[in-house]
Amino acid sequence: MIPFSPPRIDQKIIDEVTDALRSGWITTGPKTKLFEKKITEYTGCKATLCTSSATAGLTMMLKWFDVGEGDEVILPAYTYCATANVIVHCGAKPVFVDVNRADFNISVESIKNALTSKTKVVIPVDLAGFPCDYNEINNLVRHKDIIKLFSPDNERQEKLGRVIVLSDGAHSIGAEYFGKKTGSLTDTSVFSFHAVKNLTTSEGGAIALNLPEPFNNSDIYKYLNIMSLHGQTKDAFTKTQSGKWKYDVIEAGFKANMTDIMAAMGLVELERYNEDMLARRKFIFDRYSEAFENMSWAELPLYESEQKVSSFHVYLLRIRDITEEQRDMIIERIFDKGVSVNVHYQPVPMLTFYSEKGYNAEDYPVAYDSYKREITLPVYYDLTDEQIDIVINSVKVSVKEVTGK
Ligand SMILES: *Cc1c(COP(=O)(O)O)cnc(C)c1O
Repeated sequence: MIPFSPPRIDQKIIDEVTDALRSGWITTGPKTKLFEKKITEYTGCKATLCTSSATAGLTMMLKWFDVGEGDEVILPAYTYCATANVIVHCGAKPVFVDVNRADFNISVESIKNALTSKTKVVIPVDLAGFPCDYNEINNLVRHKDIIKLFSPDNERQEKLGRVIVLSDGAHSIGAEYFGKKTGSLTDTSVFSFHAVKNLTTSEGGAIALNLPEPFNNSDIYKYLNIMSLHGQTKDAFTKTQSGKWKYDVIEAGFKANMTDIMAAMGLVELERYNEDMLARRKFIFDRYSEAFENMSWAELPLYESEQKVSSFHVYLLRIRDITEEQRDMIIERIFDKGVSVNVHYQPVPMLTFYSEKGYNAEDYPVAYDSYKREITLPVYYDLTDEQIDIVINSVKVSVKEVTGK
């Protein structure tokens, strides 16, 4: 069986993790701090806080902006449930909008139509690693009519004076937009280093801070760092130093820190990310696209354009003119041939918790149409050239078996 997305675990990773274990310091410490510095350098953002997950990072940013009851947060219907769940955790209302047909990303026109005086945040998701239309989104939240609509309820919201753009970059570390990397494109971006993501620390994530003047991103970093550790003014590492045992708690914080064991993996992964990981992923994407481009049934994903380069996270193939049932049958046939595939994603409004709240997939016709025809093909570092051919062949044969095309 060809697996869907195993992590790349080689001797280098094992050596670096072993080094963390042998160092005697296994929770947040020097490796995490170094990893943060490297992410800041790599993405071009202003400061980075590593976290235990992207979900924790998104939650902390929503809390930092004091998003809560009565507030609305705009997000795409086509995403992983975590993007929506964090909004619910804060007591705010998720406002789903539809996506673009071409690239699965949030439609700027739909954001415009959904903005109200209650909107505090927009969460664009760089789906599959392809950056959203950030010039348009950034201009929209800065438009004078949209600024007029904004009604701040606290000091931070007043200081920003507009809706904040909080990117869910769970898929997109390393992706580029007009030559700039994700992390440096919006007010804040959050990356995921979960086991199935491009760059993994097993679990883990990072908040890339990039807020405009008059915000001081290193002050926000210091504050969030404290908030990621119970709101305690000194971390466990600092407290080990002589005379430094006493601490205070400034707020009821979270427990959302990254450990040095996780950071050890991340340091190795980031070091070889562009040359090794992204290059291999692009190679696999190109092979799939070459293999399917002449098939009349294939709708290929967009992953490179004049302005944008993907991080090649997941290859989202759509089959033209099929029903959801046919798509499910094709997936079954592909599995029967020894290849694991997946679907990214079921639009969040159709999942039980959200549909019971009254959300309805029919309100997001493009998202639903993409979902029902979508099959995600395996892409990962260790996928061999032979396995790529097996995947391609299994897809072609299975589509033919089910649709006759
Ligand atoms: C994986 C994922 C998340 C959550 O990441 P965690 O690190 O597991 O919390 C959020 N958004 C999207 C789009 C994801 O794919």
